[in-house]
Amino acid sequence: MGETERYTEIREETATRIDEIFGQNVFNDNVMRQRLPKKTYRELRHVIDEGRTLDPVTADVIAHAMKEWAIEKGATHFTHWFQPLTGITAEKHDAFISHEDDEGRVMTEFSGKELVKGEADASSFPSGGTRSTFEARGYTTWDCSSPAFIKESGCGKILCIPTAFNSYTGEALDKKTPLLRSMDALSMQALRIVRLFGNTGAKKVTTSVGPEQEYFLIDEALYKKRPDLMYTGRTLFGAPAPRGQEMEDHYYGVIRERVGEFMKDLNTELWKLGVTAKTQHNEVAPAQHELAPIYETANIAVDHNQLVMETMKRVAVHHGMRCLLHEKPYAGVNGSGKHNNWSLSTDNGVNLLDPGATPNENIQFLLVLSCIIKAVDIHADLLRQSAADVGNDHRLGANEAPPAIMSVFLGEQLEDVVEQLISTGEAKSVKQNEMLRTGASALPDVEMDATDRNRTSPFAFTGNKFEFRSVGSADSIASANTVLNTIVAEAFSEAANELESAPDFAMAVHDLIKKNLTDHQRIIFNGDGYSEAWVKEAERRGLPNIPTMIEAAPALTTDKATALFEKFGIFTRSELAMREEVVYETYAKTIHVEAATMIDMASRQILPVCIQYAGDLAKAVRELAGAGVDTGVEKDLLTEITMHISKMKKALDELNTQLLRMPEIKDVMEQAFFCKDVIVPAMSELRLPADALERLVDSSMWPLPTYGELMFEV
Ligand code: ADP
Ligand code: MG
Repeated sequence: MGETERYTEIREETATRIDEIFGQNVFNDNVMRQRLPKKTYRELRHVIDEGRTLDPVTADVIAHAMKEWAIEKGATHFTHWFQPLTGITAEKHDAFISHEDDEGRVMTEFSGKELVKGEADASSFPSGGTRSTFEARGYTTWDCSSPAFIKESGCGKILCIPTAFNSYTGEALDKKTPLLRSMDALSMQALRIVRLFGNTGAKKVTTSVGPEQEYFLIDEALYKKRPDLMYTGRTLFGAPAPRGQEMEDHYYGVIRERVGEFMKDLNTELWKLGVTAKTQHNEVAPAQHELAPIYETANIAVDHNQLVMETMKRVAVHHGMRCLLHEKPYAGVNGSGKHNNWSLSTDNGVNLLDPGATPNENIQFLLVLSCIIKAVDIHADLLRQSAADVGNDHRLGANEAPPAIMSVFLGEQLEDVVEQLISTGEAKSVKQNEMLRTGASALPDVEMDATDRNRTSPFAFTGNKFEFRSVGSADSIASANTVLNTIVAEAFSEAANELESAPDFAMAVHDLIKKNLTDHQRIIFNGDGYSEAWVKEAERRGLPNIPTMIEAAPALTTDKATALFEKFGIFTRSELAMREEVVYETYAKTIHVEAATMIDMASRQILPVCIQYAGDLAKAVRELAGAGVDTGVEKDLLTEITMHISKMKKALDELNTQLLRMPEIKDVMEQAFFCKDVIVPAMSELRLPADALERLVDSSMWPLPTYGELMFEV
């Protein structure tokens, strides 16, 4: 296609109106209102809004309407779409067809029963050893609080029904069930707090979440030449390119045409699914980008974030690229995360995290804030655990944003209020927003935010929400929000217990705020979270610093965590134990795949080429010497190369030997620690000489695309 035609096409396409595309593949409230009989619609709203149980007759009517709508839109199948402990989604498609009628025409069918309940083999999903194949039954159940949608892909159009996934014995085998439980718990406890302040109208408090998603793009042809990217999602070898991110020209830079076309398609696909894709920009590292949606109810935000990740991968392929969601695809440049923006609002429109213009006088806000600070301090280990995944070990605790130490950033204004409260019991003044003087008459002076940003803090207050920055880019945000909701529910419940029975409410709330802040002041940190000094200071304050995923896992099953989760009905003891096991299992399996991939690449790609090059050099030395030329330089180079080759071979043998020991270790936890303590260091040992060789060997012979090509040829 010529350039002119291409641009004509682009202009025509963009003529499609965003408000017409948005939500066109969603069985949303609007569609339900139009398509369901009034009575059914009302029943369903009760179920969604008040958690009433759905009766089978209503379910049948809804299923029929949903099927008719989906088939009109061209859907051929339906699926129960769920989120097992793999962290991604699962689906199994069933066509709408049933047997033929008397005239030989195929019938379409979708019953209320099929809508509400499905069966999936629980033993084929991670369950921490709790399910063997002989106790395999698992059920998926409709989550009507997240709208059904039609997914368009190579499979055609599939009606996807968001569901929870539980075992035959009722244990949650997924990420959605505990999240929904935690939203209920938080709502119940937060309502007690707002009631204390006279808000009797609110019926519900919802958690709102806006996850900012970072990702890398890479040319597909180059991707396919890298077994490490194909099998593990990250590069396991690779010398740094001459240019990385030091020019600081990629962040917010002009988006290249090919990437722009990808983003345009991605947005369209997401809008069709009702995902509120809002902001797009280039991120810090070359070939790194970000997409942020408008925040939504936590449960829907979690589902939508899964759709964002999945759609990114799918659309990239259509543009001859691949989307890398791994937290650290390339060493030496920034990795990817997911900032989880989180806030709480009542159904009558009050954001509990909105400080207003005079936070020092906003007692409800100060109580809520002090409860959150308390919650994060008491359960810092759990919050850390909730953001752990294998790839994220390269970020958290590995000198990258944010650190593994949990702390709360409040900003200048709130920190000042907190200090006044702690020292005098009262906050008489509040620092007001200042004007930004631009110094040019053509530019307006503007009011500044009350607080500057702190990009190094894992848990930062940003105006009317907290931003939990530790979650990994490839991970589900469900666990992080489940933990946040539950720990805050606990702090609210303790506060309400005390305040509901207090004879003098004003006095009691004042004392409680002061007590919470004083007792948990150590978690507040406004300085540079990346500095060595903070690591020391945090240790002095007694804050946990948990460097890896598997060291964070035991936080799930401490007495403290068990009591917390059982009290609010989020997890049973056995569900927690299962989740801890899954962490070890996932870690050990992932590292095993990475190590095996390294062995394969080192043995069959890198070493043979290096040996061949050494042979060529040796031949050149002989020929040159024969011709009477001085071969000093060639000999030096040959010596250097053979030295690295020999180091590499030794490291390869060592990694091989250690990896073979793994199956002998029966306990998954021991296996995981063996991976961390033995396999991971052995992998680093192998990478070093290989990367050194990449810098020395003739580039035309090198078997893998280089970092420069991977990051700059998008
Ligand atoms: P910031 O610049 O402070 O990061 P943005 O407006 O860019 O804020 O928003 C970042 C993300 O936070 C977006 O996904 C946005 O929808 C979300 N967000 C904004 N307000 C809230 C809120 N009250 N609760 C939860 N998420 C929010
Ligand atoms: Mg942000």
